[in-house]
Amino acid sequence: MPKALPAQVASVIKFSWVDGPGNRFVLFLQGCNLNCLACHNPQTIPLHTPGAISMSIDEVLNQIRQSMPYISGVTVSGGEATVQLEFVAQLFRELKSCEEFAELTTFIDSNGNATQEIWDQLAPCTDGVMLDLKALDDEKHRELTGNSNKQILESIKYLDSINKLYEVRLLLVPGHNDSDNELIDTAFWLRSINPKMRIKINAFKTHGVRALARNWPEASDADLARYKTIMN
Ligand code: SF4
Repeated sequence: MPKALPAQVASVIKFSWVDGPGNRFVLFLQGCNLNCLACHNPQTIPLHTPGAISMSIDEVLNQIRQSMPYISGVTVSGGEATVQLEFVAQLFRELKSCEEFAELTTFIDSNGNATQEIWDQLAPCTDGVMLDLKALDDEKHRELTGNSNKQILESIKYLDSINKLYEVRLLLVPGHNDSDNELIDTAFWLRSINPKMRIKINAFKTHGVRALARNWPEASDADLARYKTIMN
């Protein structure tokens, strides 16, 4: 099979404890199909940008090789990882087929805005997906991301049904998507799909966001305590 084109890469982290289970090598790809007001890395939204690094499959595998003694897996994040589908699928297929990488797990950090056909290509070589849900209400989702959440809700259901959904992540922004009713509805909907759904709450911080969201309030410890009480 011909090699996928080189990926447009925003950055690489050789060891991370916050991008999936265990200690992980993380590849942050350029390109996103949402446009979130609260995006902490808006420079990753365009696929091509002067700051991007072009990396081949072999170059990424070489970097993973160097991290091998210290990692339990590889996560591809973004931007939106599935925008560069061919590259991710081929990278994960290589990891799964080479004996030297056999112990590594493969995870995707996704905004969920991907079709079932895309997940079907990735599922055979992907151990788990961490999926962000910005709002359950479609109108609110459009306000926050510029897009409908229809595809994202379908992705949550589909990935759960094929046992590939590792967790759903909620970025909660005070006054924008964190009312008691929104949290209750979201928890209820997620648990109606799978009562054991892993839900991770991320607190909004202004670091890195664009001008429009720079004056939004950050989530406080009291906010976080309220989120946890309601969602559990
Ligand atoms: S999905 Fe993620 S990378 Fe894309 S715009 Fe939203 S926050 Fe940024």
